[in-house]
Amino acid sequence: MSGNSTIVPSVLDQLSASGHKKVVFCNDPDTGLKAIIAVHDTTLGPALGGTRMWTYNSEAEALEDVLRLSKGMTYKSAITGLNLGGGKAVIIGDPRKQKTEALMRSYGRFIKNMNGEFITAEDMGTTTRDMEYIRMETNYVTGVPESLGGAGNPAPYTAKGVFLGIKACVKEVFGTDMLAGKSVVVQGIGNVGEHLVELLRQENVEVYISDINQDRLQEVARKYKAKPIDADKIFTIGADIYAPCALGATVNDKTIKTMKFAIIAGSANNQLADEQVHGQLLLEKGILYAPDYLINAGGLINCYAELTGFGKKRTMQLTENIYDATREVIKLSKTEQIPTNLAASRIAEKRISDIKKIKSSY
Ligand code: NAD
Repeated sequence: MSGNSTIVPSVLDQLSASGHKKVVFCNDPDTGLKAIIAVHDTTLGPALGGTRMWTYNSEAEALEDVLRLSKGMTYKSAITGLNLGGGKAVIIGDPRKQKTEALMRSYGRFIKNMNGEFITAEDMGTTTRDMEYIRMETNYVTGVPESLGGAGNPAPYTAKGVFLGIKACVKEVFGTDMLAGKSVVVQGIGNVGEHLVELLRQENVEVYISDINQDRLQEVARKYKAKPIDADKIFTIGADIYAPCALGATVNDKTIKTMKFAIIAGSANNQLADEQVHGQLLLEKGILYAPDYLINAGGLINCYAELTGFGKKRTMQLTENIYDATREVIKLSKTEQIPTNLAASRIAEKRISDIKKIKSSY
């Protein structure tokens, strides 16, 4: 063995380090399925999380991704008040070339064999059609189309949660949650972004929009009288609020330096490039950050509704709780002088440890 070989922690050591309960490696040569299902924590309920299909460069990279994402789901369910644990799955492969009915159904059988400990939904690289294939093999799947008894497109609920997260932050910074006259930059006007633009324009907010899809940019600008801007203007514009609704890691060393926003609140996952560093930097700069996994939980609430049979009214009520939950995070952040992302983690961890205690009695 070479003297300078890098020491890679064993899989079980990685699970211990991140507090994971279980990881299932799925291998089916007949269909080409190679997947990893991670169950982080099931204190609050079965582990729910989407299935991502992606061309990972290595199994180690896929494992790292699924461990990180499943842990995030534990926190998201906990802070949203749902009785769900955290899980996630990744299928290794190119969704455009390697996805077949047989592969998805084979994957569904692996989920079935977990007997309800893990429930899945869509994520990057998977669609409602794929959820239908999984449903052919197991009931432990959500995100199937409304026509098949599912709860349908989660984006309107996600957008509503983000909108309420913005309101909760505006209340903190400006003393009122009236949005009229405020300005917001929405980066990415896809499924969630467009719904958000609509809600903001209904309250007479000045909305700037940016997207790499120029046709869509012009269409949404016309439809809602929003102002299209170039991507390179986002972090220098003098708007009140930045709503990232496209990619993650847009809040980083470079962008924080130039941004003049008072608030960051959007739907994109993992907005802070480095949770440890950038939450603190935003606090020091006086920019209020609404933790992404809290305010974008409307989609998860929609999955929960599908499982529990809640109707649209209850789904909307649960989504509306995001306003108060955001206010609670801001309050803790202020009293403890800690970044809002850290305050959110503390609230989520407290709920998990409290519920663990009640489970000690039969
Ligand atoms: P989407 O694919 O419908 O829309 C994304 C939009 O962003 C597209 O219009 C795309 O052209 C644009 N985009 C991509 N790269 C960009 C860039 N560099 N600059 C500007 N625009 C860019 O996705 P979505 O469902 O609207 O989700 C948006 C974000 O919210 C994602 O990060 C997603 O993970 C997150 N999210 C979505 C939901 C949901 O219910 N859909 C729930 C939770 C979190």
